[in-house]
Amino acid sequence: MMTSALPYANGQIHIGHVAGAYLPGDIRARFERMAGSDVVWVCGSDEHGAAITLRAKKAQVTPREIVDRYHEEMQQAFEGLDISFDHYSRTSSERHHDVAQNFFLTLLEKGSFEVKTEAQFYDPKAKQFLADRYITGTCPKCQDDGAYGDQCEKCGSALSPTELIDPKSTLSGAKPELKDTTLWYLPMGRHERWLKEYIEKGIFEGQPHHDASAWKAHVSGQCRSWIDSGLQSRAMTRDLDWGVPVPVEGAEGKVLYVWLDAPIGYITSTMEWAEQNDARWQDWWKTDETELIHFIGKDNIVFHCLIFPILLREHGGYILPTNVPANAFMNLEGDKISTSRNWAVWVNDFLQEFPGKSDELRYVLASIMPEQKDSEFTWADYRERVNNELADVLGNFVNRVLVLTRKYYDGNVPAINAADLNNTDHAVLETLSEAPSQIADLVRRNRFRDALQAAMGIARLGNKYMTEQEPWKAYKANPTRAAVILNTCIQVAANCAVLLEPFLPKSAAKLQSAFGIENPTWADAAPDMIQVGSILSELPILFEKVEAEVVDAQVSKLESARAATNVARPEFKPQKDTMTFEDFQKLDLRVGEVIACERVPKADRLLNLTIRSGLDERTVLSGIAEHFAPEDVVGRRVTLLANLAPRKIRGIESQGMILMAETADGSLRFVTPEEGAEAGDVIS
Ligand SMILES: [Zn+2]
Repeated sequence: MMTSALPYANGQIHIGHVAGAYLPGDIRARFERMAGSDVVWVCGSDEHGAAITLRAKKAQVTPREIVDRYHEEMQQAFEGLDISFDHYSRTSSERHHDVAQNFFLTLLEKGSFEVKTEAQFYDPKAKQFLADRYITGTCPKCQDDGAYGDQCEKCGSALSPTELIDPKSTLSGAKPELKDTTLWYLPMGRHERWLKEYIEKGIFEGQPHHDASAWKAHVSGQCRSWIDSGLQSRAMTRDLDWGVPVPVEGAEGKVLYVWLDAPIGYITSTMEWAEQNDARWQDWWKTDETELIHFIGKDNIVFHCLIFPILLREHGGYILPTNVPANAFMNLEGDKISTSRNWAVWVNDFLQEFPGKSDELRYVLASIMPEQKDSEFTWADYRERVNNELADVLGNFVNRVLVLTRKYYDGNVPAINAADLNNTDHAVLETLSEAPSQIADLVRRNRFRDALQAAMGIARLGNKYMTEQEPWKAYKANPTRAAVILNTCIQVAANCAVLLEPFLPKSAAKLQSAFGIENPTWADAAPDMIQVGSILSELPILFEKVEAEVVDAQVSKLESARAATNVARPEFKPQKDTMTFEDFQKLDLRVGEVIACERVPKADRLLNLTIRSGLDERTVLSGIAEHFAPEDVVGRRVTLLANLAPRKIRGIESQGMILMAETADGSLRFVTPEEGAEAGDVIS
């Protein structure tokens, strides 16, 4: 049983998504099918959650319109890239609502939740509770100031809204109020002990469950550190009007947390697949022999390695994940991929601008897949890999094989005598006999980069062998030798046609048809795959070279997207004119402490601060009222310019000035001395 992260239906698929969860799944699924394994691979659109309602609100459309649009667009992207899910579903279906609600009710009966009525953040302007993406603030773990109410994307920590520092409503920007509501919590702390054993040792309920050493180090390492720092209870319901309604009387206006319903979506998707294929879904989720593998990006580790296993175990009757080979992130041209900043290569754009080149993109993404740590896509690298590897090695090799076979033997595979093979030929054939199991082993260990390298290594070997053996010279001087060389090259090329299929399905199909191979299995790859007398047909150019202008245009497109968003790289103001040391010495800078603060009547921008300067307590007016409320300012230590000539503003005399830093986005930060510096300390 294989799943790939349900893509979130509020945006398009970009190359980072593909490299994270879909291409790895596709390579593995295609390989398993060729190897004759019983495999089902499901996915579907994740159509609930606050990010969707938020986007709908902004676009002034219904959430349904948003998810319908992206469900469609995401499917196009997957089809265009030959991502071969056995079934692709969506979580807004009635069927899924039923499945998720029944799952919830079973957990409820078993006492898996704690029901708490407590104060939650509420936006008084927008009149709604603020969960997940409706609220942002500073992450209590890593201090990143873009954390959401359910998760910090910077450090990956799972959060509750009330843990955020300086929370803000993303709906209105308002400072949220606390208001009582009832929530169903998953007390994760109860599960620490067995989860630790499950993750660290691969032991579940006292039995060996999976090979823990097969898990990626960054995945188990992250889980271990979460468990070790103590698992907090997580709310599994939300006060929202879009999602799977909580199936409990009196819970109107509440829905299941999107990360409760989304992984259950894997089960629903399997049910739908089973119905359409005359199979039993239970065979895939409820029998111990089944391996359950989740392909995801690293931002989803907590949900798949901790929360979903808890839900499955609490429900009972289900198997648990045997591996969660999460990938890290793929960056783009020196920067993080960002949907909001349009810093991405969108799959549908690529398919439109590079028709017929899906294998090229798959190849490059698989070559640089972020399996253990973040990696980076650049267009220059794309061009190099396509030109130097796909076109010059694989394309060139198979093309020469087919052209020469047609030229010398009318397309017939030439007959040879085993006794005529020399050591070099034997070495090449030996490599062919070992390659299928080597590549299979790498794919099963989810080491797709290495597996692709090994498969391409066969093409490289063939290309080198042909260049060195020069069949075009042998053909005149020694026809027997020429036949041996060509026959060997044909075997190499035919093996490429099979072994590269999981990675390059379109090109492999073309190759297979040129070599007369039909629906090959993995076991068909062998040194004597193509029989003497088989007829080879023509092959159109497999890979066209990419011109420099083409990738340059893509980079310019990215740059202009960057320029179009306002969050361009900060432009720093030029340095002011030089001043003398004597000038500087005239500044009397001191640490001050704000002991009181109030608004200045009829002045929107001004706050009236009372500052303890060590010398006195003085009044300073500051134009920061649009950025800070008085209660945010009291108690802070600030940098005070004490000897600025006093000035009367709105009838109040300001005796100095406090220093502020202006950030790239125009917001203000206090210039605060390090801990330990006290009011009155002189700054010099
Ligand atoms: Zn963080």
